[in-house]
Amino acid sequence: MVDYANSARRNRFKSANRAARSRCWLCGGRIDYDATVPHPLSFTVDHAVPRSLGTVPPSRRSNWRPAHYECNQDRGDKMVDAFSSGCEFESLPFAALLGGL
Ligand SMILES: [Zn+2]
Repeated sequence: MVDYANSARRNRFKSANRAARSRCWLCGGRIDYDATVPHPLSFTVDHAVPRSLGTVPPSRRSNWRPAHYECNQDRGDKMVDAFSSGCEFESLPFAALLGGL
């Protein structure tokens, strides 16, 4: 889900990912850091553990991942194991993600 709140922290997260040339964590594709939402390849903050579950505070930086707007929208509130973009997505072991929080 797109996080419009707390934009200062979000902008710092975006800048760090731009500098690192981070790819979309859902499909592995390049993110267009100059594009703006709702451009499909624009940068968004995705939450590894969906906010809708209410188990991880939305502001927790360790739960943030760089993702395309399009992939973020496709994923919605689904768990990552249930998400398939049909492109270069490689399923990640969700237990490993939780262990990293
Ligand atoms: Zn993507």
